[in-house]
Amino acid sequence: MNTIRHDFRSDTVTRPSAGMRAAMNAAEVGDDVFGDDPTVNLLEQKMAGLLKKEAALFVPSGTMSNLLALMSHCGRGDEFIAGQKAHLYVNEAGGAAVLGSIQPQPISHQADGTMALDDIEDAIKPDDSHYARTRVIALENTFGGRVLPMDYMLAVADIAQRRGLGLHLDGARAFNASVKLGVDIAAFTAPFDTVSICLSKGLGAPVGSVLIGRQDLIDTARRHRKMLGGGLRQSGILAAAGLYALEHNVARLADDHRRAKRLAEGLGRHSALKVSAPETNILWVDADSSIAERFDAYMAEKGIGVIGRYGQQRWVTHLDVTDEDVEGALALVDAFFAN
Ligand SMILES: *Cc1c(COP(=O)(O)O)cnc(C)c1O
Repeated sequence: MNTIRHDFRSDTVTRPSAGMRAAMNAAEVGDDVFGDDPTVNLLEQKMAGLLKKEAALFVPSGTMSNLLALMSHCGRGDEFIAGQKAHLYVNEAGGAAVLGSIQPQPISHQADGTMALDDIEDAIKPDDSHYARTRVIALENTFGGRVLPMDYMLAVADIAQRRGLGLHLDGARAFNASVKLGVDIAAFTAPFDTVSICLSKGLGAPVGSVLIGRQDLIDTARRHRKMLGGGLRQSGILAAAGLYALEHNVARLADDHRRAKRLAEGLGRHSALKVSAPETNILWVDADSSIAERFDAYMAEKGIGVIGRYGQQRWVTHLDVTDEDVEGALALVDAFFAN
């Protein structure tokens, strides 16, 4: 097992900074299941305020947050529409089906990452006893590090409104998108009834996500959170990290985006590497098949951590990736190609 020296695997690997730990240490706490934890209450109020929505709910993970959203929009036997590669369809262990009795209606992505508007419309079931009732459309933004444009989200919102459906945003990295676009997070998330945002990714908190949205949906989600075992007690210790992150770690996401660009530029100098132009903090690297295996092994040996195999790599920049990490990793990659 080689140790990872430059960790580009995910923005979930960040460790709470000294300042964040101090905030956690100082947090006032109470029993949040009784509604008594002032720090959790503050985080929920703050997130609802930032997004200009009615209510918010602090939850242990983005997976639970998405599941709660789907379970709030849908009843047993209902259906949600989402992209074929959406995290809440592919990467959440089928939770909506298993725990919510909710059926997915996945839709292929176009080259730009969006679902075609016509495909969404066509997938909405008519009111007929043969069909599951379509209840909600879920978008993901950023999607694989890409920012889906505002006018696309508005066009999907228009469909949802016309067809009487809910609209959910898996905004695990919504702040990356809002910083990238220079659009306020409230404006960015305005079209949605519910929004899930991760505190434990680029924002650098150790644990937690927040589901934000309409009061009735969040009330339902709170009940389901208890049912799923996500009712936490003195969770103000964790919420304090989230509050600290909102204050200190949002604007600096631009640094992660700049470092991803620098990585893309450096890696892209090697013709055997096909590198996507990163829009935010994620870049995709495709090594030529002639070197893929050797390159993977070299990266592992040199302690450059990425996700992916057979030369298909995902590099992610985050709070704990410094300019030195970026330059160090690039120098190591240069050395691979110098031989
Ligand atoms: C990470 C992630 C989630 C889920 O978050 P966890 O906290 O890991 O459960 C959901 N959606 C997207 C797009 C993510 O990247």
